[in-house]
Amino acid sequence: MADRYVLNLNQQSNGDYEVHKAGCYYFPKSNYDELGNHYGCSSAVAEAKRKHPYKQINGCKTCAEACHTS
Ligand SMILES: [Zn+2]
Repeated sequence: MADRYVLNLNQQSNGDYEVHKAGCYYFPKSNYDELGNHYGCSSAVAEAKRKHPYKQINGCKTCAEACHTS
């Protein structure tokens, strides 16, 4: 089953913008962009990069560990 992903538009202290899966403890309550439903974080991160080509996108360490790089 696909999961809902969003991009947190609140910038992290290291400059990253993080992608979160619905249900994540760090899921943003406001100021986020819907990325739609995805079958994994890599597809969700790709969509986030497509929509926000000038942002430094990263996966959340908690809910998208496979896509977390920094
Ligand atoms: Zn998360």
